[in-house]
Amino acid sequence: MAKAKPVATLSEAESSVYRERIKKRLQERNAVLIAHYYTDPEIQALAEETGGFIGDSLEMARFGARHEAQTLVVAGVRFMGETAKILSPEKRVLMPTLEATCSLDVGCPADEFAAFCDQHPDRTVVVYANTSAAVKARADWVVTSSIALDVVRHLKDQGQKILWAPDKHLGDYVRRETGADVLLWDGACIVHEEFKAKGVLDLKKVHPGAAVLVHPESPQSMVEVADVVGSTSQLLKAARELPNDTFIVATDRGIFYKMQQENPQRRFMEAPTAGNGATCRSCAHCPWMAMNSLERMLRVLDDEQPSNPEEIHVSPDLIDQALKPLTRMLEFPRP
Ligand code: SF4
Repeated sequence: MAKAKPVATLSEAESSVYRERIKKRLQERNAVLIAHYYTDPEIQALAEETGGFIGDSLEMARFGARHEAQTLVVAGVRFMGETAKILSPEKRVLMPTLEATCSLDVGCPADEFAAFCDQHPDRTVVVYANTSAAVKARADWVVTSSIALDVVRHLKDQGQKILWAPDKHLGDYVRRETGADVLLWDGACIVHEEFKAKGVLDLKKVHPGAAVLVHPESPQSMVEVADVVGSTSQLLKAARELPNDTFIVATDRGIFYKMQQENPQRRFMEAPTAGNGATCRSCAHCPWMAMNSLERMLRVLDDEQPSNPEEIHVSPDLIDQALKPLTRMLEFPRP
């Protein structure tokens, strides 16, 4: 698997210079910055300051489609840029680096996935949003973690058997919660898979009043110690609405930017990802999300060549095919 390249740390003064230059460039290029909840706080803050957006992958793509800007600068990982392009094929979609990928996407190559689907023609193919455009194009449905349970329950009620990809933990959670017949692809998120239930229980001894919020890309043992299991948006809602003052959060720590902003009096702690003997007690940050630096963003915006190396391209045929399962999800009635 391709390794994420680390980014240099900027001083506050350097960071400020970059931010001002990016703001200017966004205006000059009729561009809007759309950032994922897992990007670094300075990227999310810049999105807010410039009239951009912070959200999950689908909300990002929807915002990009609604916004009048002709260039979308997507700070996240590659499949997010592709989803934005599928929903806005007429717009230019740039990313700080196309090398920012995702272990779920990388772990589900389109040709191997198509062969897996061909072996199980009796199953309805449901894929998670964290997949390439080519994998989405092979699917009957695309789902996000916020809508996966509802869609699979609906399909089960119609008597359908499911082929699920790529996240085995989320797929297994969906299978347990819905009772549907779900065949799993063997993929995992390298960040969420590392959370440790034992570490959470140890932390709960020190903070007995803390609520445990868990993203369902985490293993079953983590789901079992959770007070709330949900997508990024659902965890943000829980952080606003639960009565607790302290939270142990098992998802990428980038989400703390929004959680702390919305709940300044509350305390948020990273769920542990390693045992007591480890040097790093929690490494809850996606290395690919961390590649979205201010320097890379400015470099992309400074490049005025017609062909930008960090531009997302998806063929019209693939867009047509991937749009069908995406549209099914977008039109699925929300509870
Ligand atoms: S946190 Fe996990 S699921 Fe999200 S982009 Fe990183 S590797 Fe992929």
